[in-house]
Amino acid sequence: MPEIIGAEALSVELGAKRGLLKNRPGVTAVDGVSISVNEGETFGIVGESGCGKTTLARTLLGLQRESAGRITLQGADVSRSGRVGREAVQYVHQDPGAALDPWWRVGATLAEGLKIHGVADSAERQARIRDMLAAVGLDPALAERYPHELSGGQQRRVGLARILLLRPRVVILDEPTAGLDLSVQAAVLRLLRDMREKFGLTYLFISHDLSVVRRVCDRVAVMYLGRVVEEGSAAELFAAPRHPYTRALLAAAPRLDGAETGPALPGDPPSLRAVPSGCRFHPRCGLATPECATRDPVPETAGPGHSVACHRWRDAA
Ligand code: SF4
Repeated sequence: MPEIIGAEALSVELGAKRGLLKNRPGVTAVDGVSISVNEGETFGIVGESGCGKTTLARTLLGLQRESAGRITLQGADVSRSGRVGREAVQYVHQDPGAALDPWWRVGATLAEGLKIHGVADSAERQARIRDMLAAVGLDPALAERYPHELSGGQQRRVGLARILLLRPRVVILDEPTAGLDLSVQAAVLRLLRDMREKFGLTYLFISHDLSVVRRVCDRVAVMYLGRVVEEGSAAELFAAPRHPYTRALLAAAPRLDGAETGPALPGDPPSLRAVPSGCRFHPRCGLATPECATRDPVPETAGPGHSVACHRWRDAA
């Protein structure tokens, strides 16, 4: 499948203050990241809080300005364009139902998005809304209700319908199963899979829940302190992780079968204002050597479509 969205050596600086009175440097939340997401796949981005995954997503959406590098969407360079030209990329919040206006009937909320996107004919809007509510498994009559009259699951479906009405090609899902119990989680994942097939969507799936990522993603990038440290097919990455950070994340992840997990990762990720020299993971890595503290590892090929940035990935395996 061809690439639909990609980032090339993308860097994003946050929090810089410039001017006569203030001259504070920012932090580089995303540092030289390159990813290539193919049409129709579900591409996972994983890592601890603060690793840069949400900043990367916001930058791909055009909500955050990149400081260096390039973003391409459907073959066109959209770098530094903001949201202009990126309408094909939409974002689904952790709880899409929370984005619904409590004072508006569901139908009015859904119609508003269509109006903004230039669907002027009211009958056409109503027809599309009815069809979309049915597509996400809801009774079209729910258009007459207010959000508080819906269950949490129904609100979630309406939130997703709102995004899908805009006919996106790429949907960024930010922790779509966070806080859900297992049965609701399974229903949400089924709905997302069905919608992907029905509307030919590509997903960027941001999550720290590795058991979910393993089930739904085709390929996965693992981020640490603003960098991608390992990338590969989900099957290979989960079966044979090469980077010590990926291995530690997987070992510490809760198991669906209830089996005991490995030791938690030692310590917390360092601040972006004090990024360690050499390999950024070296203060927490059990395999670190003196070289790791001075020499920055570059991504190496560990197998077909599998890259890893670690001096000792062969030993880790
Ligand atoms: Fe650990 Fe060194 Fe590999 Fe970094 S480069 S992950 S410190 S072994």
